[in-house]
Amino acid sequence: MTRFLFCFLALWIVSCGEKDSDSSSVIFAGEIVNPTNDKIVLFRGDEALDTAYLDQFNRFAIKLDSVVEGLHHFQHLPEEQYVYLEKGDSIQLRLNTINFDESLVFSGTGEEINNFMVEMFLTDETEERLVYKFYKLEPGVFATKIDSLKSSKLQSLETLYQENSLSEGAYQMAKAGIEYGSYIYMEAYPFYHRKKTGEKIFHSLPEDFYDYRESINYNNEGLTYLRPYYNFMKYHLGNLSFMGCKKNCGDIKLGENQLHFNQHKLKLIDSLVKQKELRDNLFRNVAVDYLLKYDNEENIGKFIADFHKLSGNNSHMGEINTLYEGIKRMQPSKQLPELVLYSAEEQPIALSELTHGKKTVFYFWSGSEMGHFKNMSRRIAKLKTKYPKYNFIGINLRTDMNRWKSLVESQNLSPTEQYWAKDYDTFRHSLIISEPNKSIIAKDGIILDAFANVYQSF
Ligand SMILES: [Zn+2]
Repeated sequence: MTRFLFCFLALWIVSCGEKDSDSSSVIFAGEIVNPTNDKIVLFRGDEALDTAYLDQFNRFAIKLDSVVEGLHHFQHLPEEQYVYLEKGDSIQLRLNTINFDESLVFSGTGEEINNFMVEMFLTDETEERLVYKFYKLEPGVFATKIDSLKSSKLQSLETLYQENSLSEGAYQMAKAGIEYGSYIYMEAYPFYHRKKTGEKIFHSLPEDFYDYRESINYNNEGLTYLRPYYNFMKYHLGNLSFMGCKKNCGDIKLGENQLHFNQHKLKLIDSLVKQKELRDNLFRNVAVDYLLKYDNEENIGKFIADFHKLSGNNSHMGEINTLYEGIKRMQPSKQLPELVLYSAEEQPIALSELTHGKKTVFYFWSGSEMGHFKNMSRRIAKLKTKYPKYNFIGINLRTDMNRWKSLVESQNLSPTEQYWAKDYDTFRHSLIISEPNKSIIAKDGIILDAFANVYQSF
């Protein structure tokens, strides 16, 4: 990976673009090989700035009159990736969806920072596996290893910066990405170390282990959507909440008391983070995470009350309320939502109708994730043998109907046990489909367990 990085460094030296400093407009264009849909959407934060459709050569172009310099991201669903934009940039990208991140290359003005960011992103993926092995080391040794990984990346960045090809803003952002990325490992260490060594208590840490915490900036607006920064915040708040509770709340078993633990997190975000977007996003993250884990109705009510109290003006409030209402509707003994599925003969049928007279287990799959589909099929085959009286029904999501029909045929699936959902978002929101192995158990239109899992619930 490091060698790859240096290739890139060598490349940009010979192919530096000229920035048009007189113009504030920005051109973001490129080519998508093997597109998975017909468009590219450019975002700054949560705001979609523009959408471009691919032409017959799978090329697109977006022109903006001006930009706020900084991190943006583009989506070509189901994937997305960063792009750093500055005034006057004219940047081209090329990618192949079969290897989305690995194939992504930028050229033109702004290529240096963007290729560097992609490299860092890919390095992080490899690094995670390496660091996972380091977690069993003693804390001092671990900290040294993490520090040296960080230093070598900062060194590459420094070289790039000294060639004067990066703006100050781009340099600072890339630097923050490297630093916060390495701090994530430090925050995670106590938990993974205990898990990997099987130690009964948390290993005591050297006094300087968390020294970097003095330099944390909780209010840097430009970093809100930078993945290492945001992920760091999640780990950091998790660590602080857990350790704080352990120290101050006595005999609370956190694993069994998700409400208590998540209430700590809400209070902590409230006290530490003032920058509105980051604060809203972190509050939202805790809420979604907690609500989807599923707790009883009384507890989720208490949580939502706290959420409203501390984050009443949250910009994601609509989404949180909808999720909360949805979860309340999916409690045991309530009616299944009124949703329509289609059979392989393209006949509509109500979801609840499929549950008449028999305990029915719904599971979900998509034509674009065949690895998951194969695992799921094996698991369902086992469950069918174990529970011959149950009905198992696969619901296909996010797949073109004709492709789904041909998969039902080619995979030898029984057409009476397979149905197709037209509108993914409606299904996802009404049935609260938050993870790939989710299942829903119902009978005669009544919910028995809407938060089951094909691996854990049987
Ligand atoms: Zn506590």
